[in-house]
Amino acid sequence: MNEEKVFCTYCGKEAEWVENKEIYGRNYGKSYMCWLCRDCEAFVGCHNNTKRPLGTFANRELRSLRKQVHLYIDQFWKSGQLKRAWVYSRVSKELGFQYHTGESTIETCKKVLALPYEFFDPKPKKISPVIGRDEVAKFHNFVDGDD
Ligand SMILES: [Zn+2]
Repeated sequence: MNEEKVFCTYCGKEAEWVENKEIYGRNYGKSYMCWLCRDCEAFVGCHNNTKRPLGTFANRELRSLRKQVHLYIDQFWKSGQLKRAWVYSRVSKELGFQYHTGESTIETCKKVLALPYEFFDPKPKKISPVIGRDEVAKFHNFVDGDD
């Protein structure tokens, strides 16, 4: 095994490759290895328990925002009203770059959360939101989803 090093993007210190039970108390997901910076409480999950980071480092604030984005935009395809790929390509087109929630910054998350329901509506009044915007905004769960 080659010695791979990953550095925290917040403080620049070397991150530790650990199981995510270090963060959650128990392991979450089938790929539970992650790179963790204890000083910043920032981490990034890994691809299939390898050392390859999946996305970018996120601290508590960014994780909370990413979770809110998932709650907000995933409701449209999870409810079967729209296709997942369509939702993400719509957001990517609006932002002007390929959008992945796992790579998003605080600024990007806020932009996505500011998009109105109508933005996701291919035809007026075709979609009906499952989760209200207030509920999304109040969400502050520490546990991250996959992606
Ligand atoms: Zn750090």
